[in-house]
Amino acid sequence: MNMKYIFKMAAGLMGLAALMSMSACNNQPKNIFLQEWDTPYGTAPFSKIAISDYMPAFEAGIAQQKANIEAIVKNPDAPTFENTILAFEQSSPILDKVQGVFFNLAESDSTPEMQAIEEEVTPLITDASSEIMMNEDLFARVKAVYEASEGLTREQQMVVKKIYQSFERNGVGLEPEAKKRFAEINTRLATLSQKFGQNLLAENNAFKEATGITVSEYYDFMASCPDRDKRKAVFEAYSSRGNHGDANDNNAIVLETLRLRAEMAELLGYPNFAAYQLSNKMAGSPETVDNFLQPIMDAAMRSAKAQMKEMEKLAGHKIEAWDYCYYAEKLRALKYALDESQTKPYFQADSVLKGVFTAASQIYGLQFEEVTGEVEVYQPSVHAYKITDADGSLIGIFYRDYFVRPTKRGGAWMNNFREQEKGVRPIIVNVCNFPAPGEDPTEPAPSLLTIDNVQTAFHEFGHALHGFLSQCNYVTVSGTSVARDFVEMFSQFNENFAFVPEILAQYANNWETGETIPAELVEKVQKSLKFNQGFTTGELCAASILDMRWHELSAAQLGTFKGAEDVRDFEAKVCREMGLIDEIIPRYRTSYFNHIMGSGYSAGYYGYLWSEVLAVDAWEKFKVDGIFNKATAESFRKTFLEKGGSEEPMVLYRQFRGAEPDPSALMRARGLE
Ligand SMILES: [Zn+2]
Repeated sequence: MNMKYIFKMAAGLMGLAALMSMSACNNQPKNIFLQEWDTPYGTAPFSKIAISDYMPAFEAGIAQQKANIEAIVKNPDAPTFENTILAFEQSSPILDKVQGVFFNLAESDSTPEMQAIEEEVTPLITDASSEIMMNEDLFARVKAVYEASEGLTREQQMVVKKIYQSFERNGVGLEPEAKKRFAEINTRLATLSQKFGQNLLAENNAFKEATGITVSEYYDFMASCPDRDKRKAVFEAYSSRGNHGDANDNNAIVLETLRLRAEMAELLGYPNFAAYQLSNKMAGSPETVDNFLQPIMDAAMRSAKAQMKEMEKLAGHKIEAWDYCYYAEKLRALKYALDESQTKPYFQADSVLKGVFTAASQIYGLQFEEVTGEVEVYQPSVHAYKITDADGSLIGIFYRDYFVRPTKRGGAWMNNFREQEKGVRPIIVNVCNFPAPGEDPTEPAPSLLTIDNVQTAFHEFGHALHGFLSQCNYVTVSGTSVARDFVEMFSQFNENFAFVPEILAQYANNWETGETIPAELVEKVQKSLKFNQGFTTGELCAASILDMRWHELSAAQLGTFKGAEDVRDFEAKVCREMGLIDEIIPRYRTSYFNHIMGSGYSAGYYGYLWSEVLAVDAWEKFKVDGIFNKATAESFRKTFLEKGGSEEPMVLYRQFRGAEPDPSALMRARGLE
């Protein structure tokens, strides 16, 4: 979620009662966000939310938070964890409630009305947030607790440290002029990131109109379309999104964003934005990341070049960028006698979800029960599930929002409607863009998933498990509230279960005949997963390096960039220097790189590969101990999933593995040695 506060908040200080009695004084219908929700498990009553509820709720929430912060600052008692840190964490229950709903739906079910509210509310929220983070009296109290934190529990220490650092990183220590500028930059950046995302949504819809396929069907299409001219046209439309010099062009937004980020980092004393971003991550510095990425890039390109030779033989002509996926698929079929049309019938979306649940059931003992109807959903195609532990206790509520819609942004993600904390179980959604099933009952057209889609379903549920199994006391460190380069460990780890034969046997059934996926096909799938890694790893690593290079520029360097032309030239130069071959482009080009422009992965996209090292290294332990070994699963759950950010990642890692992670595990797992 891009608008979430750097810190998170929960149930509250001021309480709802005061506000409810206020609103009862006039004749207006009550705002749903200012009421207690009488719903199962505290889920959102979607059908009762009026679009006109949002703005007043945001305003009431901001006012409530302001009053609560004021009360913390004016407290005559000496600062303690409870009266300062906990009070701060719990300072905005209304805002928390309305944000939890609004920013979820703004991503997955947006409308022009929602977009208008988003534009209106974004600067309000960022201003309010900036004001809090610049509050010197509040910071003085936080600092006092931070400096005397020896007597606190380890989790409390981590909470204090995180909050203390977020103040520092937000410029509370700056001189008045710089402080003012810092706040201006924050507000402007939030607006720019929103605009970037909205332009991209428009461009993705235009792409669909022009080509007849959605952005999420792109790779599938490129691998299967025999018409070379059509492939070329689709490639060009896809790779030029946000880059047409029209109203949806993102280049100016990119440049302004990068300049402001660099300026912000420099105000805080960092040489560039990458150095600032890395300073509180597991990796620690841009140099560590650069040294980590380049050997992966080199290995990927060696593999891609070797594969290109084989593909050129097969094609009888030079491979261009729009031929790569198509001939890779042909080569895969030839080598493994496998193409996606063979596997797709076994991977109907509903069966895959069953597989996702089965794995979690067998590994962690979780139970799943569909509660759609009892629990409201925000779209008819969304389903709700209640998750319970082996002993029957409630784990949380899960929404599945799998199918593509024009109102949904591209990609796949996990998000919380409500986060875990002491006494509160989480409410979590997985959003994907899988092909929607047909609606005509006389002509069944199920949603059949590609292998990549299947991995995505397991990936996003890995994030969900990290959120669900959390047993933290404080929302600031619960669940997925961990460093970006640590968080993807759990999603990527969970992908491993998708193709374990014992689990496949329980979910991969042919949608027409019911037949279970044959063992030889499973073996082929497993082998073929290591195929084409020159491309897959290459485009991912290229995007990671591109992200780093943009954010390693200083404000002065960025000042020399004049416009779209310079953005494109720089991107081309970076790709050349990293050794990327012309036939592969970064997984995201700058003008549609929403992870780093619209969401929180700026100078952090490398985190996928970094976390993958952790994930594959942990998986090697599962393989050695036996995948269904109860003690290993229990240790993984207790050491990582229950802990969230309540301990340093490397400390947890050493606890689980008895050693630091081994980077060569990644090359082994991807077959790039
Ligand atoms: Zn992820």
